[in-house]
Amino acid sequence: MSESKKPFRAPSTEFALAQDAPWLTAPREQVQRAIAAGRLSHALQIVGPSGLGTSALAEWIARAALCDRPEAAPCGTCASCRLLEAGSHPDRLRIAVREDKQQVLIDDVRDLIESLGLKSQRGGRRVAIVDPADAMNVNGANALLKTLEEPGAGALLILPLARAHRLPATIASRCQRIELAVPPAATGLAWLRDRGSEADWEGLLAIVGGVPPDALALAEAGAADLPREMAELPAYLRRPDADPIQLAERWAKHFPAARLRWIENWITERVRQGLAGAAPGHTTANPGLPGAAGTRHIQGLYGLLDETRGAREALHGSANVASLFERVLFGLAETLAEPRRARAG
Ligand SMILES: [Zn+2]
Repeated sequence: MSESKKPFRAPSTEFALAQDAPWLTAPREQVQRAIAAGRLSHALQIVGPSGLGTSALAEWIARAALCDRPEAAPCGTCASCRLLEAGSHPDRLRIAVREDKQQVLIDDVRDLIESLGLKSQRGGRRVAIVDPADAMNVNGANALLKTLEEPGAGALLILPLARAHRLPATIASRCQRIELAVPPAATGLAWLRDRGSEADWEGLLAIVGGVPPDALALAEAGAADLPREMAELPAYLRRPDADPIQLAERWAKHFPAARLRWIENWITERVRQGLAGAAPGHTTANPGLPGAAGTRHIQGLYGLLDETRGAREALHGSANVASLFERVLFGLAETLAEPRRARAG
């Protein structure tokens, strides 16, 4: 096996991710302090990009809350921790979106609430996770209201979610909020380099908006070299023999979302440079401001940025991905040709 085929080392479970991710240290310690002091809230919402570990942290908190040793929770060795490790703890409940469904079913929410209201089987807490909570519809969320207003003794509800606005205010206001933030690049890079030295982690991290596990997932899926490959795109599109149609067909099948995200970042950087007065149409008559050609160029970039974002959103639907790419690549080729025309004129 060659060096480059060495597998990347991903955390083996969600729990392992929560246990070792440095960007989850602060929320972990916050929960541990609350448990040790006996003042853990009966309802928690964990808000952040799902890739950062909202589910993983929910799982970790469930273990900490159920652990038989509150002063060291989750200890990993008590009977409760061992039952959780085996996936057979009777007081840990979880519902999610069922396969081929778009939402968490209202019946599942009702069953969960009923179970949560039952007596603890091990004499401690009873913990219920709805993952992700933003996949409940309004009726589902409202079904939780009574539980939140009158939580049974020892009940703990944990709601991981990415889109906080999807949770009705009546629910959100009754939950303590734990916010997960994208870590500084240096933190994410250190975590990623610990998992494999072969990938262009900086480039991958930029593609996934700074969410380290998402960068790792891309590398594991075979896109470790994607940033380097994408960096050749502008030069390629300037070539007379460039073939955007053939490229669009190929890219539609290999990491289209990551490639569109790279293009978005590239355009955003050009807009930023243009606005800083470095646009090719910049003139000394308007120091600090781009000239008319530069302004047109920036407007063109904004249009292309919208198109690229639209294409990435359309990936979730039934759109023809190759034709989405074609439009973006032709638009990009045109934008790349423009500054030279502006200079010539
Ligand atoms: Zn334990």
